[in-house]
Amino acid sequence: MQVPADEVCGCPLVRDVFELTGDFCRVPKRRCNRHYCWEKLRRAEVDLERVRVWYKLDELFEQERNVRAAMTNRAGLLALMLHQTIQHDPLSPDLRSHR
Ligand SMILES: [Zn+2]
Repeated sequence: MQVPADEVCGCPLVRDVFELTGDFCRVPKRRCNRHYCWEKLRRAEVDLERVRVWYKLDELFEQERNVRAAMTNRAGLLALMLHQTIQHDPLSPDLRSHR
């Protein structure tokens, strides 16, 4: 693909390999040898990051499902405990009979 003569490189400049400086390479694209085809590499990086995020999202959905299931179980158990009256001492009067 032909690069227009007035197009600048535009590669984001980094400090210590990863840290973005917020600045961009202003060398004319045709003459910049340091960032040859940087867009392609950046694109691959973004795609990889996207896959990572999708996996993370999937993991979180799985966690959410588990938490919801645990909450449902606990609610069921609580309901069971609240509705079941146990007479612990057979000699003590059953309060239900005096109603
Ligand atoms: Zn450059």
